[in-house]
Amino acid sequence: MFTFSGSAHPVNSAAGRQVAIVGCANRTITTFDAATLLEFFHEQSSPNEVKMYTESDPLLPTYEQATGKGQRRRSRQCSPVWPLVLFPSIGLFVTLILLSVFSNDLSTIFKPKPKPKPIPYHVAVIGAGPAGAFSARQLRRLAGKLDKPLSITVFERKSAVGGRLVPDLPLYPFDDALQQPLLPESASALSLSNGAILEAAREHGIPFRPHDHSEKIFYNIKGSSELTRPSSKASLSSWLWELWCFGFSSKNAKAVGNTAKNQFLQIYRETAPINSTQELVRRHGLGYVLANGGLQALEGHGVSRDYVEDVLRGEIAIQYGQNMEALNNLALGIGAYNADEGRSLQGGSMTSTLEAILDSSDVDLRLSTEVYGFRKLNATKWLVVSRQPGTSGEGTIDMFDGVIFAAPFFPDEFEYRDTTFQTPPQIIDYKTRHVTWFASPVQPDRDALGVNVAKPFPDRAIMKIPDSWPHSSTGQGLIEVLDMGAIAQRNSEGPGSQHAYRVLSEVRLEDEHLPAILGGMSPSWVGRHEIKTAYPNLSPRSAFPPMVLDDRFWSPLSIEAIGSSVELSAWAGKNVASLVVTELAKRSDD
Ligand SMILES: Cc1cc2nc3c(=O)[nH]c(=O)nc-3n(C[C@H](O)[C@H](O)[C@H](O)COP(=O)(O)OP(=O)(O)OC[C@H]3O[C@@H](n4cnc5c(N)ncnc54)[C@H](O)[C@@H]3O)c2cc1C
Repeated sequence: MFTFSGSAHPVNSAAGRQVAIVGCANRTITTFDAATLLEFFHEQSSPNEVKMYTESDPLLPTYEQATGKGQRRRSRQCSPVWPLVLFPSIGLFVTLILLSVFSNDLSTIFKPKPKPKPIPYHVAVIGAGPAGAFSARQLRRLAGKLDKPLSITVFERKSAVGGRLVPDLPLYPFDDALQQPLLPESASALSLSNGAILEAAREHGIPFRPHDHSEKIFYNIKGSSELTRPSSKASLSSWLWELWCFGFSSKNAKAVGNTAKNQFLQIYRETAPINSTQELVRRHGLGYVLANGGLQALEGHGVSRDYVEDVLRGEIAIQYGQNMEALNNLALGIGAYNADEGRSLQGGSMTSTLEAILDSSDVDLRLSTEVYGFRKLNATKWLVVSRQPGTSGEGTIDMFDGVIFAAPFFPDEFEYRDTTFQTPPQIIDYKTRHVTWFASPVQPDRDALGVNVAKPFPDRAIMKIPDSWPHSSTGQGLIEVLDMGAIAQRNSEGPGSQHAYRVLSEVRLEDEHLPAILGGMSPSWVGRHEIKTAYPNLSPRSAFPPMVLDDRFWSPLSIEAIGSSVELSAWAGKNVASLVVTELAKRSDD
């Protein structure tokens, strides 16, 4: 249901109804706009769906007047009283001229009118993740180059800034934040290097508190040895052990990721906007890395199969939520880098940095506001409809000169009209992943999991799962049980130390599935999270969705077809904002 609410400019409809159109930062909605709007909603809504207002404003046109249908416009109606007004006005004008001539001051009459205040361009940014925050930042930076002010509205469905790395709910009631992989603080540390975020933080004077999680992260490798990663932080004995097990695999795997990292940072620092994803791929020679499978690439770099199976496979599953075989060279490179080095680098409070970036970009930030509808109003305007998430009630309509859609885009989920988004949805293929955490004073049953009894339990990631657990229809469903790597101390709930596990699955796990691996016992605590927009399927591809989805409707999302990372998203947001400003600057309609 659409209803209008907000400030500014009520319009009467034919039935005597009145809707208020949300004012767009000092922009007066023209009769044409109002008419089109009314037409849209007359067509779109049944009478009951349009919110009724009782007041009416006689100064504004009725529906018929606004649309030109039915009655003639008020401005064209002739009044018989016009001579009474016209003649005294002429008299007054002549008197003023004579007075001014006598007082030798003609300037009071012919004084040039003050220039009307320029009307700001109004840009909507949908999504306050890395791409949205960097879009806003770049828009504000470039606004100075326009000869008119710019106003930016950022819509964010969640109650916090930060994007995909911020969970909707706190999930994990344990003492150690590091054990909650989706908490903003810990998740940010996983970033490829946080180069873009770090750079922006420095530039804005935003304190960026680095984390070093490495000391806390332990991996069980090869069953019997515990190695501290990243390798650079490992003790000499662990490092030698790893060298013995895998040769120079970890160094080589990291090197593949380093190439990706440097490529991203180079792209990030680029100043000239890039018009299409294809152009980006061409200019940076990314075609090769995208068109090749990651496993081949690792092999080509001398990364051992054992290392891939024992270390990288689990790491990729956690980071990407998908099988290694599905990943292209670039995506796997990022994963490999993260597995070995990423965590030691500049982790930090990504979310508070993004918040500060938005703050300093002077935006109208609307948290807990979900966009669910668009309409291309005319050649220069978009209507964006938003509401409180989870409600099906009233929406608010705002009008914009351009829209940046900085969020995963599912055309089917939106109500839209008069637009043909050029995004074939199949190009970016997201796979929903279910994450189940559970805690238990007892360890999972090795036999039930088919774990080799010769190995001490638990292996870091266990691919074999009980037959009784649900599988995806593809049969091979990626389901893993991951030991969180440390004994967790429960908060006030439950006594003593308990083991914490994470299960990543394509299918939701219910409570009754868990006793299957706990020797029939139920876990002491279960937490669930569904990641609808986990990493997209990054299999090699040669076609990319465009950065411009419609006229004056841009999306940094296309970059996910190359690689889903904070760095690239930040670049994509920045790039798209530059395209927006270039496009708006061409306009001279007001
Ligand atoms: C589990 C997981 C782990 C990851 N780990 C890493 C990592 O270690 N390193 C790394 O570099 N990258 C990592 N990523 C990827 C990284 O999170 C993404 O690349 C990045 O967040 C994408 O940024 P974005 O701004 O494009 O989109 P998002 O982060 O998805 O932000 C989009 C925002 O838009 C909002 N939104 C969506 N729809 C609407 C709507 N209709 N109306 C209003 N708001 C809306 C969302 O709530 C969200 O806040 C990980 C991703 C996941 C899922």
